[in-house]
Parts: sequence; C-alpha cells; structure tokens
Amino acid sequence: MSPATRIDTVKSITTHYIDGAFAESHGRQIMDVVRPTDGQVIAHVTLADEEDTRRAIAAANRAFATYSQSTPEERAKILSRMHQAVAARADDLTAVMIEEYGGVAQFAGLIVQTGVNAFAAAEQAVREVPWTRRWDKTTVTMEPVGVAGLITAWNANALFMCLKVASAVAAGCPVVIKPSELSALQARVLVEALHSADLPKGLLNVVTGLGTVVGAELVRNPDVAKVSFTGSVAVGESIMRDGASTMKRVTLELGGKSPTILLDDAALDQAIPSALTMAFMNSGQACAAGTRLLVPKSRMDAVRQAIRETMRTFRVGNPADPKVAIGPMVSEKQYERIQSYIRKGIEEGAEVLVGGEGHPEGLETGFFVKPTVFVDVKNDMAIAQEEIFGPVLSVITYESEDDAIRIANDSKYGLHAAVIGTDLARARRVASKLRVGRVVINNMTDDPLAPWGGFKFSGVGREYGRYGIEAFLETRAILES
Ligand code: NAD
Repeated sequence: MSPATRIDTVKSITTHYIDGAFAESHGRQIMDVVRPTDGQVIAHVTLADEEDTRRAIAAANRAFATYSQSTPEERAKILSRMHQAVAARADDLTAVMIEEYGGVAQFAGLIVQTGVNAFAAAEQAVREVPWTRRWDKTTVTMEPVGVAGLITAWNANALFMCLKVASAVAAGCPVVIKPSELSALQARVLVEALHSADLPKGLLNVVTGLGTVVGAELVRNPDVAKVSFTGSVAVGESIMRDGASTMKRVTLELGGKSPTILLDDAALDQAIPSALTMAFMNSGQACAAGTRLLVPKSRMDAVRQAIRETMRTFRVGNPADPKVAIGPMVSEKQYERIQSYIRKGIEEGAEVLVGGEGHPEGLETGFFVKPTVFVDVKNDMAIAQEEIFGPVLSVITYESEDDAIRIANDSKYGLHAAVIGTDLARARRVASKLRVGRVVINNMTDDPLAPWGGFKFSGVGREYGRYGIEAFLETRAILES
C-alpha cells in the first residue's frame, strides 16, 4: 500500500449493522484501534453492548421465519450477489487488513481471495447438498438449524466472516456476527460490501464488541440456535460449557501446533522454503502454521544450513511491501507473548539457530519480533507443545518414519499437518496416519470444497463447502404409515 492510501486521520465507527441498516450503538464504550507498525491510534470504535446484541438477534429471528423457507436456488442467487459484492471490495479489504493488524500484503491478498471464493464455493455446494432424500414411506429433509451466532478471531477475521456467513446463508440461517474487536475496520469494509448485495432484511447482522459482552450474549441467548466460533481453546471451552444450558449447536475452530514432516528423500532446496513458508505464514499468526518441523536425524546438519540460508530471504518489515514476508504482531500483548516463549525456549535448553529475543534491528517502533528458529527441541518442551501464535519454529529430529508419525501425533492439537518428500506414495501413507483435520503434501494449498477443522483440542465440526453448510443443518424425517 502506498503512503497515500494509508489511514492518516483517526476514523470513528459508531454504528452496528442490524436489520439491513447501520444503527447507532446503544453501547457507549469506546475502543482505540492501534496500528501495529507504529503503535498509533488510527480509529475509535464504539463497542456494542448486550442490548445491541439482543436487537440483532431479534432481527435475525424475524428473518428466520421467511428465510428458512427459501429454496436452495434462491439462496444460490443470494450467494452469487454476495460473491460479486465482496469481490468488488477485495483491494479495500486487503489494504485495511494490512493497516489494521499488520498482515503482510503477500498473505492478506490471498486471504481476501479465499474469503471471496467462499461465496462461490457455497453457491456450488448449495446445489450439491442432498436437501431431500426419500425411500419407502420415509422422507428426510435438511432443515436450517435457526439463528446462527458467528464469533471470529482477529488473525484473518474477514476470511472467517466470509466462510461462516456463506455457509449459514447457504443453509438458510440468518446470522449475527461478532467480529474480533481487533478487526473492526476490516469488518466494516466487509459489511459495506455485503450491504450492497441486496440481502433480505435481517439476514445479516454485525455487532462489534467485546467477547465477554457481545459474544457471551450470543452464547447464552435462547434465540440463537448455533454458535460457530473461531478462536482460542480457552474461549472455545467456555462456549461449549456456557452454551450447554440452551443446548447450543457448536462449531469450534481452535488452535494448532501443526507438524511438518520432512521425509528423508525430500529435496532440501524446495523443502526448506516450503516448510518455512508454512511456519511463518501470516507472520506466524496462523492456526495452521507449521510450527513444528520434524527432520530425520541423519539430515539435520544439512537442514541447519538450509534454514540459515533460506531465512535470509524472509524479510521482516513494512507489511505493505510485497517483498516482506513477516510483519508486526497484532498488538503489544502479542509481542510480549512471543518474547516470553522465546525466553522459555532458551530456558528449556533449545538452541536458537536464527532470531532470538527483542526487536529486529531498525524496527524498534511497533510490534515487530525476530523470526526465530529453535533447533535441538524435544517434543515435550513448551515451545513444541503450546501454541505461540507468532514466528517461532521448533525443529525436532526423528529416527524413523514411525517415530516421525508418533511425534507428529503427540500433541493436544490436531488441526493441520504437512508431509514433504519426493516419493508421493510414501508421503500419502504418512499423511493417512496423522490425527489431524487436514494434511497438505509438499506445499501449502487450499481447496474451498474440502473440509477444514480439527481433531482433539483443535475443535469440533468442520467448515468449507458442503461440510460447512451441513454444520448449520438439522435433519427432519417424516414417516408415513
Ligand atoms: P480469542 O479466543 O481470544 O477470541 C476469539 C473471539 O472470541 C473474539 O471475537 C473474542 O472477542 C471472542 N470472545 C472472547 N471471549 C469470549 C467469550 N467469553 N464468549 C464469546 N466470545 C468470546 O482468540 P484470538 O486471539 O482472537 O485468536 C487467536 C486464536 O484463534 C488462536 O488460538 C488460533 O489458533 C485460533 N484460530 C483458529 C482458527 C481455525 O480455523 N482453527 C483460525 C484462526 C485462529
């Protein structure tokens, strides 16, 4: 982004999106939006309270009466309009993500495109869901579950909003979205885009506020049938617990500590750049980041060398620069969290191969950290078990293929994994033994129709394509005698 397009005046957002219109906030609390590259306040956001949230839920509930009766064909047309509307604002969305959370241009652009694609994928998938099945005297229909509360994380907030909205709308469910309070600006651009898509009144409602206020109301309100959440394990657990009294259906997309298994036939000149790209994507602030690199012991010397060389090509700096791979952390709190884990890794006895504590030279202002690679890591160390959510990679050696699989699966998480090797049959065999929701072979890749979600503490349920739509549906069987 050129300096001319930066947000140089402090903006104010005082409205939420309720019942098809921008409505002044009932909540009075004001939050600063801080630019992570320099710590400057770039916007003030008036946060929603419980009353704003209840108004949004009521609007969605009114919309449910008619929208739940819409046909899949009508929903496909709405999704097509949403797709066009969001595609038209893709550049604005990318720019605001760079500004607001310091997402690097090379990743933010991809993330926005994935969000745009989510509407097209849902439009395709809505035509593939078997809405009605009949046999003998039995008819089974797929019914929208009800009003959906969608709660998102800051690290790719616009994408999560697109994924969840597309699936819910495809299923016939009006939504109330609570974006991350750290993502108010990108949420606003997205809502402006969707407002232009001529949606049925009340289908889309967006209230920006704190998790403990707006999120908590969505979780306990009996008129919300389903909560689809992307965020931390701790909040995911509380949603499951607090949603129990209203029997909430939940989809929980939580954390990860994803392994990348480097097989012993991997060509290092391609394998190491690929592994490091997966480790440091979104500046390491990605649930799927491959933050544990498992390396055959016999190849460790060559891997050390290749990592040192490749890391020189991973530039840290202004996220708007398309050559920059790693931008700042989203907040000072996140900066401190990364520092504490780097210190912990050193205390635990791992060796810092690249990086270390403190700011990179010349980037002392803002929340920049040094991308750090630890070697000599044991899988039971905190830096190998806990999600750091920053550019910190732990390299762990293994003795055999079985050992690699055991280490990869020795984690409370099971979201994502990668296998890198030349023999594809072998890579597939290893992939099939991993207890994770998705495995990529050789490089990071995506398919908007393939399911996304985790085993174990990485969550419950799936998003994307048909799987994402089914998460907002219930079956009803009618049996004739
Ligand atoms: P977070 O859990 O702190 O916040 C996520 C959302 O929950 C925010 O909108 C927040 O306001 C809201 N929230 C907070 N307390 C709440 C409560 N009591 N009730 C309801 N809502 C509440 O997570 P974060 O820091 O925004 O995001 C980082 C985490 O998200 C990481 O753990 C990361 O792995 C995870 N994540 C997972 C995926 C995935 O697809 N599995 C994707 C991105 C991020």
